[in-house]
Amino acid sequence: MSASVRVALIGAAGRMGQAIARAAETEATVEIGAKLDLGDAVDGPISGCDVVIDFSHADAAPEICRACVAAHKPLVIGTTGHSAEQTKAIQKAAQTVPVILAANFSVGVNTLFWLTRRTAELLGDGFDIEILETHHRLKKDAPSGTAKRLAAVAAEARRLSLEKDLVHGRAGQVGERPAQQIGMHAIRAGDVVGDHTVIFASPGERLELTHKASSRETFAVGALRAARWIVGKPAALYNMEDVLGLSGQAR
Ligand code: NAD
Repeated sequence: MSASVRVALIGAAGRMGQAIARAAETEATVEIGAKLDLGDAVDGPISGCDVVIDFSHADAAPEICRACVAAHKPLVIGTTGHSAEQTKAIQKAAQTVPVILAANFSVGVNTLFWLTRRTAELLGDGFDIEILETHHRLKKDAPSGTAKRLAAVAAEARRLSLEKDLVHGRAGQVGERPAQQIGMHAIRAGDVVGDHTVIFASPGERLELTHKASSRETFAVGALRAARWIVGKPAALYNMEDVLGLSGQAR
């Protein structure tokens, strides 16, 4: 059996950090070598690990990327809500070390990405696309990274522009819905782990694709799977569809 992969876990005190540490206890092929959170120095602890997993806050991205590049460590990023500048820092790091940036590590949601792409292609311009996401009241960013990715997948399939054709919620005299539009709606309520629905609707029928996460364990197990996968890969920016082998089939 191969030696276990040592993980430096950033955001270890958070909900996802704790879920990943719990999941690692039951996985023979990974171990948590360092637990880091807000205020901890990154360079020393990551030098003794094989891979870094980040589930912290978007603001941490530039420093984590710098440290991973300096130490030549692969990086798995589950954190969402990055600004354009923070995303650029991640893309730059991926030129030197392998990086996985995934808004969602569950197998089900990555299948939903695939289904959304295929459904948008099959149904075509006659169907309106609306995306709904629901998360717990403590979530800091909106809409969710998963909902943004669903919008990106649908926009690409329908040749729409995220800048021009994506609307967030509606209020007031918004007029009739243009066909060339994707609607996005973020609900915050209670302790919902994460629900995502993509609605495809035409005048005569409606198709809805829904995924509901009932436990953070699914994200944690997926993040550990991604961490094992990325060790030894060439420098590039990957996503969870690459890890699951869905990328080639997705188009
Ligand atoms: P949380 O608020 O419970 O935990 C975040 C942790 O990060 C906290 O302990 C906080 O102290 C720490 N932190 C904040 N800034 C930091 C910094 N600069 N350096 C180091 N640590 C820092 O949040 P959560 O629910 O665990 O979610 C964390 C992130 O993961 C969010 O962006 C969330 O959207 C994302 N998330 C992704 C997935 C996925 O599958 N990709 C799933 C769930 C959540």
